[in-house]
Amino acid sequence: MTEWQDDALCAEVGTDLWFPEAGHTGRDAKEVCYRCPVRRECLTDAMREEHGSSHERRFGIRGGLGPRERIALEKGAAA
Ligand code: SF4
Repeated sequence: MTEWQDDALCAEVGTDLWFPEAGHTGRDAKEVCYRCPVRRECLTDAMREEHGSSHERRFGIRGGLGPRERIALEKGAAA
């Protein structure tokens, strides 16, 4: 566990929201993420850990973004 995780809002809410069922956007989780004081650190770690991974190997909402959104961000950053 890294230091920034001590301030993670999702730790106060529970994890179910961050792993929405197929076809759901995870909107409730994302709304919490947008208010989270460590969103930047969370997203940075997710992008570092998942770099080059396929959609199937990415799970849940991290840093306010779902797996497909993180792939799009990675592709955009590389362009
Ligand atoms: S940005 Fe979202 S997933 Fe990341 S620590 Fe904050 S609440 Fe949790």
